[in-house]
Amino acid sequence: MSVPKAELHLHIEGTLEPELAFALAERNGAELPFASVQELHDAYRFEDLQSFLDLYYRLTDVLRTERDFTELAEAYLVRASAAGVRHAEIFFDPQAHTSRGVPFATVIDGLWAALRDSERRYGISTKLILCFLRDLSAESALETLSAAEPYLDRIVAVGLDSAEVGHPPAKFAAVYRRARELGLRAVAHAGEEGPASYVAEALDVLGVERIDHGIRVLEDPALVERLVRERIPLTVCPFSNVRLRVIDKLTDHPLRLMLELGLVATVNSDDPAYFGGYVQENLDGVRDALGLSDEHLRTLARNSFEASFIDERTRARYLGEVEAYRF
Ligand SMILES: [Zn+2]
Repeated sequence: MSVPKAELHLHIEGTLEPELAFALAERNGAELPFASVQELHDAYRFEDLQSFLDLYYRLTDVLRTERDFTELAEAYLVRASAAGVRHAEIFFDPQAHTSRGVPFATVIDGLWAALRDSERRYGISTKLILCFLRDLSAESALETLSAAEPYLDRIVAVGLDSAEVGHPPAKFAAVYRRARELGLRAVAHAGEEGPASYVAEALDVLGVERIDHGIRVLEDPALVERLVRERIPLTVCPFSNVRLRVIDKLTDHPLRLMLELGLVATVNSDDPAYFGGYVQENLDGVRDALGLSDEHLRTLARNSFEASFIDERTRARYLGEVEAYRF
C-alpha cells in the first residue's frame, strides 16, 4: 500500500489514455489522425508545452457525451485509488469542450456522475477546479464562469492553465475577482515556462492561494522566502517538467532543493496519460532520481493535505493516516 496522499494538480482531460481515446473515437464516430494505439503512444514526444497542447486538444475531440466524461473520471479514480490517493482536486477545461460545441452541462454532469460518490465507491474525496485557458480572452473566461454559476456547489476553485508565456496572470484579474465574489477559491499555473514574476503576479493580482508548478520561483530568492514565510503551496509535477523540457532530466529536478528550502511542495501528475506516469510513479521517480528519504516522502504527503481545500476535520483525519503510515 502506498503512502496516503492528495493529488492537487491533475487535468482530467490529461488522463485520457490512448486505449480509451480510440474506444471513444469509435463510439462517437470521431476521426483520430493515428492508425493505432501504438502510433499514438509514439506521438507522446514533445518539444515544449505548445507541442503537447496541440496533441492534447486534438485528442480531446473524442470526448463528446456525458458518458464519455463519466468514464474518463472513473478510469482516473480506479488508478488513483490503487495508488493511495485519498483526496483529489481535479482540474477541468470547459472551454476545450464548449469551443467545439459540447455544452458546459454535458461536461460537468458527466464528471459529476463519477465524482459525487467517489468517497464511497473509490475511497477518494474529490473536488473540481474550473480552469480557464489563458491563451483565450478574458471575456471568454468570464462567459465560462457565468456558465458555471448554476453548478457552484460542485466547484471549489478556479484555475488558469494552457500556454503560459505571453499570457500573464493580470489578464484575468476581473475574472478572478468575480470568482471570489461567487465564493470560489483560486489557484493558477505560474512559473512553469513563464518567469518567476508571474508567480508573484498570480499571488498579488489574482489572489491565488496555491501555485501550480512554480518551479521557476527558484530564480528569485526573495520570492522563495515569501512563499516559505506565507506557506504558499506549489503543486510540482516532475514527469511533466521533463517531458515538456522545462528541465533536462529527472536527476536535475529541483524538488529536493525546494523541500530543503522549506517550500510547501507537493508531487502531482499533471497530465499522466501523456507524461509517462501517475502520481505514485512520479513519487517513485523523484525518490530514486533525487535520493529522497522516507521523511522527505512523508513531508510531501503531509504537504499535499496541508495544501488541499478540505475542511479541518477531514485534514486532521488524513494527516493522521500519513503519520501512521510505515514506509
Ligand atoms: Zn497543469
